[in-house]
Amino acid sequence: MRKGFIKKYIANQYTLIDLETKEEVIAFARGKLRYVKLDEDSTFYRQTSMKTKKEQKIMTISPKVGDYVVYDDSEDQFLITEILPRRNDLVRPDVCNIDQVLLVFSAISPDFSFHLLDKFLVIMNQERLTPVLIISKIDLIGKEQLEALKKDLEYYKNIGYDIYYVNSKQRIGIDVLSEIFRDKISVLAGQTGVGKSTLLNALMPELELKTQEISKALGRGKHTTRHTELYRYNGGFIVDTPGFSKIEFVIFHVDEVRGFYPDFLKLSAECRFGSKCLHLNEPDCAVKHAVETKDMLASRYENYVAFCDEVKNQKDKY
Ligand code: ZN
Repeated sequence: MRKGFIKKYIANQYTLIDLETKEEVIAFARGKLRYVKLDEDSTFYRQTSMKTKKEQKIMTISPKVGDYVVYDDSEDQFLITEILPRRNDLVRPDVCNIDQVLLVFSAISPDFSFHLLDKFLVIMNQERLTPVLIISKIDLIGKEQLEALKKDLEYYKNIGYDIYYVNSKQRIGIDVLSEIFRDKISVLAGQTGVGKSTLLNALMPELELKTQEISKALGRGKHTTRHTELYRYNGGFIVDTPGFSKIEFVIFHVDEVRGFYPDFLKLSAECRFGSKCLHLNEPDCAVKHAVETKDMLASRYENYVAFCDEVKNQKDKY
């Protein structure tokens, strides 16, 4: 019995990196595997805990890229026998155990959206993923506009998020950015058109070639078949996928939303109703006060109110 890390999955073959020898081996999984241990802190546990105890017991899953697995090397074919608990789990891209998500936003075309940023941050927080903000296309926006954007984004820096400004075409900010990948599994996410592939190519020029080779090997038009791969980069890995296709909340109650706002949580100690304050219609609310004194971005609060409404309205649907 050996332990490995899944780097690639294609056509029922898993490429594993043996944790001890660091060598790459090809392994197979005998159908689906029983998920043996569930880490109660993982998002995966939250997904499965909606099922009944009995369903959980018989639930089976397939190993996927990012998984740490136990494999059997005693036969002539390597077989994956157990999947170790997942820290987090994404469906699109189909990867687990991610260290950080690089959220790419363009400064312009498409225009920067604080609404989208706040939404992404809520989802990241909910999925227990660590976001890093990347603002692309800074060369296409006017100097004054860029300064104004930076000033507003300063708020996010102050509440603990890392922000990087890049111009992939001229490789501005790329070298600084490359350091944040060290020894980590990173996923790139963002709307279409924000320049994810340009950024990826600036970071790893050799990747473009690889992607082309894979498409060729699979045949034209077939590259949509299930294929996920982690590319080695700076001691870590980057997931090359289109990123998140769906950005919807999976929040059922309005009182849950505020829990995904670290800045609100901090302020709530000063609200009259303390941790019970929803920061909506309550009097003496420290969050609303911070908006008035401009210590909080107005858009940050407005988006929060909008998300609360969204959650309320979706509840009506059921
Ligand atoms: Zn409040």
